[in-house]
Amino acid sequence: MFCEKCGKEIMDEAVICPNCGCSTTKKNTITNTSSSQEYATLSNINNLTTPALILAFLVPLIGIVIAGIGLSKVSSAKMLQLSAKGSLELDNYKSKFTTSIIIASVILGLSFVSVIIVSIVAFAL
Ligand SMILES: [Zn+2]
Repeated sequence: MFCEKCGKEIMDEAVICPNCGCSTTKKNTITNTSSSQEYATLSNINNLTTPALILAFLVPLIGIVIAGIGLSKVSSAKMLQLSAKGSLELDNYKSKFTTSIIIASVILGLSFVSVIIVSIVAFAL
């Protein structure tokens, strides 16, 4: 390396420049600290990327599966609703039908939101 003050070439391990006596350690320490911090941040990001990617695929998948189950329940509820004759039974099926539609819509909406959030985070990284 070269001395910051006089520009003379000195040994990399030198603590003080033999030519001008100026200290060389301060700058080296700062550089090492910042690069190790940078490395720590990068490894933290790498540690977070894998679970984030797993979640990116699993969360929407689970959401779609649950929404699919909800929708199949909705269609079976609809069939029952059509065949139902008693007014009390009909009301029961109606409320089940509405609840299933709401749950399926919420889950589908959440899975879409999670896909959007994960895409934004993935592009930001
Ligand atoms: Zn010097």
